[in-house]
Amino acid sequence: MQYISTRDKKNVKTASEAILQGISDEGGLFVPERLPAFSQQELLQLCAADYVGRAEKVLEKFLGDFTVAEISECVRAAYTGGKFEGELPAPLSRLGEECYLLELWHGPTCAFKDMALQLLPGLMTASARKNAVQQELVILVATSGDTGKAALEGFAGVPGVRVLVFYPRDGVSEMQKHQMRAQEGENVYVCAIEGNFDDAQSGVKKLFTDPAFAGRMARAGKRFSSANSINFGRLLPQIVYYVSAYCDLVRDEELAMGEPLHVVVPTGNFGNILAAYYAKRMGLPIGRLVCASNRNHVLSDFLQSGVYDRNRAFYPSLSPSMDILISSNLERLLFEAGGREDAQVRSLMQALRETGRYTLPEEVHAAITRDFIGGFCDDGETQAVIRSVYARYSYLLDPHTAVAYGVYEKVRSQLPGKTVVVSTASPYKFAGSVCEALRIPTGEGLFSATDALFAATGAAVPLPLERLRGRTDRFCESCTAGEMEGTCARILGL
Ligand SMILES: *Cc1c(COP(=O)(O)O)cnc(C)c1O
Repeated sequence: MQYISTRDKKNVKTASEAILQGISDEGGLFVPERLPAFSQQELLQLCAADYVGRAEKVLEKFLGDFTVAEISECVRAAYTGGKFEGELPAPLSRLGEECYLLELWHGPTCAFKDMALQLLPGLMTASARKNAVQQELVILVATSGDTGKAALEGFAGVPGVRVLVFYPRDGVSEMQKHQMRAQEGENVYVCAIEGNFDDAQSGVKKLFTDPAFAGRMARAGKRFSSANSINFGRLLPQIVYYVSAYCDLVRDEELAMGEPLHVVVPTGNFGNILAAYYAKRMGLPIGRLVCASNRNHVLSDFLQSGVYDRNRAFYPSLSPSMDILISSNLERLLFEAGGREDAQVRSLMQALRETGRYTLPEEVHAAITRDFIGGFCDDGETQAVIRSVYARYSYLLDPHTAVAYGVYEKVRSQLPGKTVVVSTASPYKFAGSVCEALRIPTGEGLFSATDALFAATGAAVPLPLERLRGRTDRFCESCTAGEMEGTCARILGL
């Protein structure tokens, strides 16, 4: 199994090369040369396996140049040994008659990014070994909050790797900021950007593609790699939990094999929902894919109209990890839905770059709307959903999951049968917003909202957040976007 670029099908890489490189030279994203398939027989066998067994089988179909033993080692290192509280990486909770929540936040940073970023370091070091890479890998991350901490946790202490994280100083929750600043490990560095997420993101992209900086890196024996979801190695572990959720429901006789299961995904960069789309294309009986946006609803507008238009105001919302106007992974969907025409993807992406918008050919839009439904919730609706779900089910939703559940309620009439709503963060990661929605008064200080939420609801505080109490911040620096290059050079000793 080889990988090709969405902007140049003749650019062919092995799986390990695609993972190491992250993004292709001409700016395209790597995708598998064909999507592998699961027969119902295979799926039935997976129903009897545990999470590790299911992950192994999914990964084996994609990682052409990895051995079965290598895959098994990576998967075990990621999902066993107490990394996930309760030893179930992706448990389901039932909410009412026909709805389940897929809880993806039981890992070390309490958001779904752990599902991929606990596995990616293993895949990356194995890839470096296979390709006889001698240089130190520098993982450069721009984060709106959750990716940064998950990459720090995943890569801390990994030999031959350094992690540099840049986050928007005023664009993350207090808990997210403390999680990153207090990170342990000798090979990590964290810095705030005096600006928003887009400033951090464009600064990182500029460094990634600057040949002069690459030259300085090479002379010092280093090379960049990416832990953002442009890296196919991030998407692969996300396909696994859709397969696993389906198998759990069949095993528990909630679903008959073959019966369609709809999924609702709180969406930002389009990575999570794209993994569900891949799972569907591979033969997993998924019904509709519901893309849930917050007030920055560029994606749900796109699904409705076939026009992607990022020329609009950006609003900081209660679900900051979804505050994004350019969803990079959409490019991979355009490639698949557009019949794998690289020339078409090139021209759409060029239009986006030059004008901030593009219009889909009608047949591509029609193909996409056969699978996808879009919807959004603003902040007021999100708060109302947190309140009503708690009142009805005594279940706490974080604001991102609440957006998804709110959209589920709005489009429910189009979803006959059963639905999984993807739950992407622990409510304690956004305790201040959850308390406000539930009208629970809080005091001053980082843990006052945590304590108030616990006192009012009795819901368990995740251990990794509990352990952050009283830890001192190690990384309190900030710089402007223009100073990022100098900061990187200094930290890397160039
Ligand atoms: C990253 C993130 C999202 C958005 O996921 P994408 O793959 O970028 O669409 C949603 N919720 C939370 C809590 C996140 O951290």
